[in-house]
Amino acid sequence: MPELPEVEIVRQSLNKKIKQKKVKKVIIRNRNLRFKIPFNFNSYFQNKKIIKVGRFSKYLIIYLPQDNYCLIHLGMSGTIHVINNVKINKHTNTSFYNSPFLPKKHNHVEFIFDNFKVVYNDPRRFGFFLLIKNNLDLNKRFNHLGPEPFDQNFNLTYVYNFFKRKNKNIKNFLLDQKFVSGIGNIYASEILFLSKINPFKKVKLLSKKECQKIIINSKKILLKAISKGGSSIRDFKDISGLKGGFQNEFKVYHQEGKRCKNLGCSNLIKKKIISNRSTFFCDSCQK
Ligand SMILES: [Zn+2]
Repeated sequence: MPELPEVEIVRQSLNKKIKQKKVKKVIIRNRNLRFKIPFNFNSYFQNKKIIKVGRFSKYLIIYLPQDNYCLIHLGMSGTIHVINNVKINKHTNTSFYNSPFLPKKHNHVEFIFDNFKVVYNDPRRFGFFLLIKNNLDLNKRFNHLGPEPFDQNFNLTYVYNFFKRKNKNIKNFLLDQKFVSGIGNIYASEILFLSKINPFKKVKLLSKKECQKIIINSKKILLKAISKGGSSIRDFKDISGLKGGFQNEFKVYHQEGKRCKNLGCSNLIKKKIISNRSTFFCDSCQK
């Protein structure tokens, strides 16, 4: 599943391609995504100029004129492809975790522009498109979600108070979107390793200093992942033919049985399951 850094990479490449461009029409081949695509979808987009592509957490936000928006979530397996009409581009994928080429099947939605088209592919169909008619409704949509790690509201007062008297472990909280938005399984393990905090530690036992480390390292890890082009779990290349590079920087994720990368530590990285998700850590460095 794409995490915040990967969705941010999609946002950047999509924004570059479609910002200030007019949608000629939309072709829907299959409406049955996680939410059914409404019948006014084409008229909503037709002849409208895209203002920009934004993002909150793992949601892409297409800004349209007259305070209209379209929210896109990639679900488990959604990818967005850009196909040029004249100059054929070999790599079409703007996102990660999948083939760089336009797949033959599961191309459900096509946005037709003047010289290119944008295709939404999703084999498992857990992704969705939602039309939102004003800014108030857009904000409502995100009400139940905690701040992003980059948000100034994700600060010591917020984190420390949130954790008071709570018995769940820190790994669970980093994945809890009500607490913080956009951190997924890969980055949660990396953040805890960098913070030297054991993933099983109950949050009520975290000191202020440890909370501060989590805040700083969440930003650090996600920013680094974005600057490296995200993490390519499978053989992936984006539309410029580049691979994401953060997977080469993993210190613990999928490193079980390997030597801990901290200087002076000869411990082996362990893998344990927390709430059905694999968790990777060094039980010597992370207390
Ligand atoms: Zn270690």
